[in-house]
Amino acid sequence: MRESRQIAIGDVKIGGGAPISVQSMTITDTRDVDATVHQIKRLEAAGCDIVRLAVPDMDAAKAIGKIKEQTTIPIVSDIHFDYKLALEALNQGVDGMRINPGNIGAKYRIKAVVDGVKERNIPIRIGVNSGSLEKDILKKHGSPTAEALVESAMRHVQILEDFDFHDIKISVKSTDVKKMIKAYRLLGESTNYALHLGVTEAGTPKMGTIKSSIGIGSLLADGIGDTIRVSLTGDPVEEVFVGLNILKSIGMRNNGIELISCPGCGRLEIDLMKLVSDVEQRVSGYDLERPVKVAILGCVVNGPGEASEADIGIAGGRGKGMLYKDGKLVRSFKEEDIVDELVKEIESSFVN
Ligand code: SF4
Repeated sequence: MRESRQIAIGDVKIGGGAPISVQSMTITDTRDVDATVHQIKRLEAAGCDIVRLAVPDMDAAKAIGKIKEQTTIPIVSDIHFDYKLALEALNQGVDGMRINPGNIGAKYRIKAVVDGVKERNIPIRIGVNSGSLEKDILKKHGSPTAEALVESAMRHVQILEDFDFHDIKISVKSTDVKKMIKAYRLLGESTNYALHLGVTEAGTPKMGTIKSSIGIGSLLADGIGDTIRVSLTGDPVEEVFVGLNILKSIGMRNNGIELISCPGCGRLEIDLMKLVSDVEQRVSGYDLERPVKVAILGCVVNGPGEASEADIGIAGGRGKGMLYKDGKLVRSFKEEDIVDELVKEIESSFVN
């Protein structure tokens, strides 16, 4: 496991042995406070630890305070170039900032931002992407190679260190999974700052999930990385869902629901695919004290035996659902009530 220097975004610790956190980014117009608050709440309910908002102009920066009043999850402002937006985001109480100091311009501007984050104890993420490298670095390396991404990141780091600022995390994202993996490995050897992992512009939920799982998953499996963001084209709640499941699949989050479901066969008597997908959406964000196995089986022939192996099991068929707990039949209900009854049982048994 790579040792990293710990920072905190709000009450979420990153690096230094803290649990790997899952981040996402809103796709609403930040100036639309109601829509943004609504999306942040959905992300939080799905299990998101930190959310990032784009701050393209002063109105968006000024909206942060109102958004924070109505939400509890730590908020990171994503700012490009304009130091005044960064200062306003700080005034509005943002918890973290993504800004590349090399793009801010004159030294006095960088100093103003660094003084502001120091005063409020706010960390900065340096976020380097393959699509936005400095011209001279691109020229030197010929293309956005892993080495180029790392060189760019370390240049930004140097600027902050020159101001004696060290509450930093770094990302070096590429759309190319192999390049992204190599860049983070190189970066991990070059510095002990916390690393924010992601494959940039990963694509549709299907392809993006595969690319992110390979890129983020292989680095985490090697002990590299402190916080993750899966980026997908679509509902950001899906990003959280994928991120949490990457962590679960490599044993880094054992505080959720492990959903087990049968593949279905000629005996299938319910709409299993819809049922599993509805349950998955409802339970993915739970933060439980121990892992809980929930089984969903599609018939009343083999289902009961298999459902009884889990903490909670549902065997569906012949228009009803039978709920098993610790191997014993607890109750049965109409098929259309299966999702609500199952969620109710999980919440009353395992959610504080
Ligand atoms: S539980 Fe029933 S429907 Fe599901 S695979 Fe087994 S026999 Fe088929």
